[in-house]
Amino acid sequence: MQHRIVVLGAGYAGAIAAGRLAKRLRREDVAITLVNAEPDFVERVRMHQLATGQRLKPRPFAEMFAGTGVEVRIAKVTGVDANRRTVAVTGADGDGELAYDTLVYALGSGWNPQGVPGTAEHAYEIAGRPGALRLRERLARLGAGQTVVVVGGGLTGVEAATEIAEARPDLRVALAARDGLGDWLSPKGREHLRKVFGRLGITVHEHFTVGSVEADRVVAADGTAVPAAVTVWATGFAVHPIAQATTLEVSETGQIVVDGTLRSVSHPDVYAVGDAAMAMGPGNKPLRMSCASGTPSAWQAADAIAARLTGGKLPHVSIRYFNQCVSLGRKDGLIQFVTADDRAVPAALTGRLAALYKELVCKSAAWGVANPTLGMPARRRPVTHKRTAAGSALREPA
Ligand SMILES: Cc1cc2nc3c(=O)[nH]c(=O)nc-3n(C[C@H](O)[C@H](O)[C@H](O)COP(=O)(O)OP(=O)(O)OC[C@H]3O[C@@H](n4cnc5c(N)ncnc54)[C@H](O)[C@@H]3O)c2cc1C
Repeated sequence: MQHRIVVLGAGYAGAIAAGRLAKRLRREDVAITLVNAEPDFVERVRMHQLATGQRLKPRPFAEMFAGTGVEVRIAKVTGVDANRRTVAVTGADGDGELAYDTLVYALGSGWNPQGVPGTAEHAYEIAGRPGALRLRERLARLGAGQTVVVVGGGLTGVEAATEIAEARPDLRVALAARDGLGDWLSPKGREHLRKVFGRLGITVHEHFTVGSVEADRVVAADGTAVPAAVTVWATGFAVHPIAQATTLEVSETGQIVVDGTLRSVSHPDVYAVGDAAMAMGPGNKPLRMSCASGTPSAWQAADAIAARLTGGKLPHVSIRYFNQCVSLGRKDGLIQFVTADDRAVPAALTGRLAALYKELVCKSAAWGVANPTLGMPARRRPVTHKRTAAGSALREPA
């Protein structure tokens, strides 16, 4: 009887977890199903590129997982019953239910309008493909001299503003940031950011907290208004509400609370990885929603699941930060080196070399997903903790 592992979401974290599980566990012992709403992998880290008209390489899951032993199911997850160990899905063949012995929850995140009035009606977003394509279409219709305001001074906002300004020098691009531009960076990183923003002609509205978005402007909490033919909302991400509707323990942000092995603290058959997980990193700080921590979280969860199923020793994958890789258009970039807990240190790489470095990071992240079972030695051990006849997974001794 095979142990049923269901992985929800084939973004960076879910796809990597599924591939690694296939590499760790014997095919005859496990049935691994990867569920994703869309048939191809979306490189979220390139959504600002998609929005500015660039073409992204298509990466169909059917090709990526062919011959790996992972069954890909294209369907939308509509609910999880963590007590009955079932997942409700809806797809081309209608509604269905998947039963699992171990669940890996990796549904990622989307944009976060933060309840600011007018965002849902008037703002554009680039947290996922539909949003990026909608913005792309809108930008294409903008005439020279019209204004685009990017709201959010974090990594995504900075990348979006510079990408748009570089791709469309005929537009007026502005960034509205709640704090100072690049406040979290080292002096070298900050200086470089200001230089690039100056070169690209991006207006920066610092210490500007947006209170509402209207059809043709954004308005600060103090009433100051900035004209905007298009407003791009990039103030961070929010997880999908599915986990919150379960009996799983979730944080205030709706992320599943997990331990150091990425296992749910309330349901030991459930693991959460990537943006969907509330996991503590170095310095006991929650991991930032990023590929930088999402990828090692997937390695850690897959290795822990494999160890628990095969009676092996629990692994420890170090989840720490090394750098923040920021694209500033296609020709410039900033690699800000950081401490293990993500605080900037003085060293930073800038300019064209940084742009190449960032491109390499994006390419290798996508390569890791596209080649799920390559790049590491297979250590397939027999599963000792199989399903019982009643369909429930045996747990390892406490
Ligand atoms: C423009 C942009 C730039 C970024 N740049 C960087 C960067 O430089 N470095 C970095 O570390 N991070 C960056 N990030 C953040 C990074 O992309 C995310 O943290 C990362 O994608 C999270 O991976 P994930 O696998 O948890 O989720 P996702 O990549 O969001 O994957 C989730 C998957 O689940 C699927 N899914 C969602 N809901 C359902 C459902 N109901 N049913 C079925 N399937 C579903 C989705 O289709 C998707 O395939 C950037 C993000 C954006 C938007």
